[in-house]
Amino acid sequence: MSSVLGTYARKAISFTEGKGSYLFATNGDKYLDFVQGIATNVLGHCHEHLVKTIQEQSEKLWHVSNAFVIPEQERLAKRLTDNTFADFVCFQNSGTEATEASIKIARKYFHKIGKPEKNRILTFQGAFHGRTLAALFAANNPKHTEGFGPKVDGFDQVPFADEKALKKAINKNTAAIMVETIMGEGGIKVVPDFCIKGLRELCDERDILLILDEVQCAYRTGNFFAFEKSGINPDIVPIAKGIGGGFPLGACLVNKKVSVGMTPGTHGSTFGGNPLAMAVGNAVLDVIFKKGFLENVKEKGKYFDQGLNKIKDKYPKIIGEIRGIGLIKGLRMLVDNVEFIKKLMDHKMLTIKAEENVIRLFPPLIVNNNELDEAIEKIEKVCKEMS
Ligand SMILES: *Cc1c(COP(=O)(O)O)cnc(C)c1O
Repeated sequence: MSSVLGTYARKAISFTEGKGSYLFATNGDKYLDFVQGIATNVLGHCHEHLVKTIQEQSEKLWHVSNAFVIPEQERLAKRLTDNTFADFVCFQNSGTEATEASIKIARKYFHKIGKPEKNRILTFQGAFHGRTLAALFAANNPKHTEGFGPKVDGFDQVPFADEKALKKAINKNTAAIMVETIMGEGGIKVVPDFCIKGLRELCDERDILLILDEVQCAYRTGNFFAFEKSGINPDIVPIAKGIGGGFPLGACLVNKKVSVGMTPGTHGSTFGGNPLAMAVGNAVLDVIFKKGFLENVKEKGKYFDQGLNKIKDKYPKIIGEIRGIGLIKGLRMLVDNVEFIKKLMDHKMLTIKAEENVIRLFPPLIVNNNELDEAIEKIEKVCKEMS
């Protein structure tokens, strides 16, 4: 019996080594890994540059308190703000901390400018923002909140893609609208560009902040952020998963306007932004910012799309829809997603489920076309077996 608290329904498989797109199980079996720690190892397993960085940094300095200036943190923040909408970054260790920081920053802003009554956040059904108490009740998924009451107040929720309900739910207390640019756990549901633009306009009209949760989709679509192709700027963006390439790292990016409330002492984290994590975050950017890297993610996304669409056309009773952009993909299945995932595992490929009977595919961004072909081949095999 395991001494680990039983909060996961784990598969009875473990791994000893990872290299790029592959994982090696304890029994020696080699798996094509399209889970990648749930969209986390953006550069695959044990990327050379990350391994070298962590080795070198581990011999210099691991951790110092945020009571001191941390040059690696200054550098990562500068690179993140130079290349995005943001003017400031605050570092965390996880996605849920990044979304919680977003909520705090939104509320503090209105408090600071003398509108403390604006303190409620609007969210959408099917959202996922993390497992700490506020993030849990922000997303308000009954599967996750049951038994964890009393409810954390300050959130109002509307159905996804229901403009009328959204407009109706806004009132004088609304501080922010928080939405995932691509709903991850909810089933890789892409919020279309015109909706992102519409949300921005609505927020501007009603003096509301726009928080785009990019914890799962950042770096993956072929743009740095998924919202970028809509051409708008949000106010606050929490990120995590991919930005540490597998090392625990979260961040909350904000514009100058909303930063005014966050003065010394208003927020903090013991570990957030320590030299070791910052070295890795910087190393991930070294690769992502290489000329043509993100363009290549777009190309590979298209290539993957073509292959997946071919299988969908061939097996229209098995695959209902291909969702996602770039290298964040979802297959909405017409057969049981869990059974399909199990059969893919028999063919030595790892994937992960999401809501709406979806199978999520997270190839590492360094994936090559041969590996994408291998994935397509395996998915096709299972389609054949299940038809
Ligand atoms: C995973 C996720 C979170 C929570 O991240 P953790 O690192 O698990 O705390 C928050 N928001 C979104 C969109 C996520 O996908």
